[in-house]
Amino acid sequence: MSNTFEGIQGKVVVITGASSGLGEATARYLAERGATVVLGARRLDRIDALAAELAGRDKKAMAVQTDVTQRGQVQHLVEAAVAAYGRIDVMINNAGLMPHSPLERLKVDDWDRMIDVNLKGVLYGIAAALPHMQRQKSGHIINVSSVAGHKVRPGGAVYSATKHAVRALSEGLRQEVKPYNIRTTVISPGAVATELPDSITEADVAESVRKIYEVAVPADAFARAVAYAMRQPDEIDVNEILFRPTRQEV
Ligand code: NDP
Repeated sequence: MSNTFEGIQGKVVVITGASSGLGEATARYLAERGATVVLGARRLDRIDALAAELAGRDKKAMAVQTDVTQRGQVQHLVEAAVAAYGRIDVMINNAGLMPHSPLERLKVDDWDRMIDVNLKGVLYGIAAALPHMQRQKSGHIINVSSVAGHKVRPGGAVYSATKHAVRALSEGLRQEVKPYNIRTTVISPGAVATELPDSITEADVAESVRKIYEVAVPADAFARAVAYAMRQPDEIDVNEILFRPTRQEV
């Protein structure tokens, strides 16, 4: 596409998990290309600093402290975007965590957190954005799955289960929102260099994941995938993107 701002400029984009990694990189990438970005995460200091930095460069950005496990907070994030900018064009349900461990270690609190953030957080994002997009008769919901949403590996059963669920949910959503002219995309990244592996508390598991992440690519790779889906003409709905580092085997 000739103009890198096309399909991005002027759009109001809400991003959960915007305080680091993929969400932060996407906020920067889209803001540089003229999008208005509304940043949600629990670490307010980080998203406030990012919003201030972008605003200082004449980009439009706003930060709203958001814990995606709290439906009311996700609702507030989207309502704040609509109150400030009049609409929501893109909802990126990106917040997630990956505390891998074998099931037999019974890290049930980690299972709960992954289901609450990776799956229920996405559902709350959909619940918050959908009514506005239905009313607008336009919008784009982008959910973040993973290569782990396609493949299951030992130690990653619960994470994979949440990411498979995000794909199933996205496919159901795709079919149901046709009457409202809403686009849906699910993006499944391979290893991308972010803080994600830091959520692993089991030393042996962390070590094996560290090996996979030796080939990790920068978070811009994800931002470009988002931009690719957004840039398509309105009648084209990019439903799935899966990418890996070229050197990633699994
Ligand atoms: P990071 O750990 O760098 O970022 C995770 C983000 O999620 C942070 O901004 C964090 O913000 C946010 N988050 C975590 N819990 C909550 C919560 N309860 N409420 C709101 N926000 C929360 O990892 P990534 O950027 O890599 O992860 C982003 C997404 O990409 C995740 O869904 C992950 O599963 C997915 N993914 C990542 C891959 C990778 O290799 N990096 C590969 C495949 C998928 P805060 O702590 O401030 O709330």
